[in-house]
Amino acid sequence: MKHRHVISYALFATLTIFAWQKPIFAEPPNLSQLLLEVKTYHDSGGYDQDLCVIIKAADDFIVRRAQANNQHAKPKKLAIVLDIDETSLSNYKRMEARNFTGSKHQWKKDVFAADAPAIKPMLILYKDAIAHNVSVFFVTGRHESERVPTSQNLAAAGYQGWSAIYLKPDDYKENSAIPFKLHARESIEKQGYIIIASIGDQNSDLAGGHAEKTFKLPNPYYYIP
Ligand SMILES: [Mg+2]
Repeated sequence: MKHRHVISYALFATLTIFAWQKPIFAEPPNLSQLLLEVKTYHDSGGYDQDLCVIIKAADDFIVRRAQANNQHAKPKKLAIVLDIDETSLSNYKRMEARNFTGSKHQWKKDVFAADAPAIKPMLILYKDAIAHNVSVFFVTGRHESERVPTSQNLAAAGYQGWSAIYLKPDDYKENSAIPFKLHARESIEKQGYIIIASIGDQNSDLAGGHAEKTFKLPNPYYYIP
């Protein structure tokens, strides 16, 4: 009987120490509170400010790199790679209206509405790149079947003169966007371009190399592996 008590106490003590060191079921942040913080981050101007700082740094780098290249007797073919959603176009209004939820069907409907506005500092960067003979390639997780509304939306938002848009195949099976985006950059390089900058709001936009520099924009709204 005594033995059993000793074993119980020992077990209790071990579990207590373990739980104290590493709480397994700690309460996560409150969802309503998080939503409020996300909206405040946007509405306070914090999101725009963070976007501006990073895009300005990317813009300065691209222009300096292009100016140096253009002074060479034989300039190289320079390119940049841009993601589309929350990098070149903003879906914020529709996301907020849906309280940051939404099915794949709703997202597709939004893509076909083709009315997302430009992320303004990115449009400035885009025009700067083209003005300095840097080719722009869009590489997006949107699907090939969404090519027409995607092109229409980009043009309507002010993007003109891009070199190509790479969209995910409709039958894409990978769980991550990384292989698709990586192969797209490889394919651009095979055409003789040096990708000097790759810019996106997800780490999966940028992972895997094939760009001199990467610039990660904020996105507290959703996550794409
Ligand atoms: Mg994106």
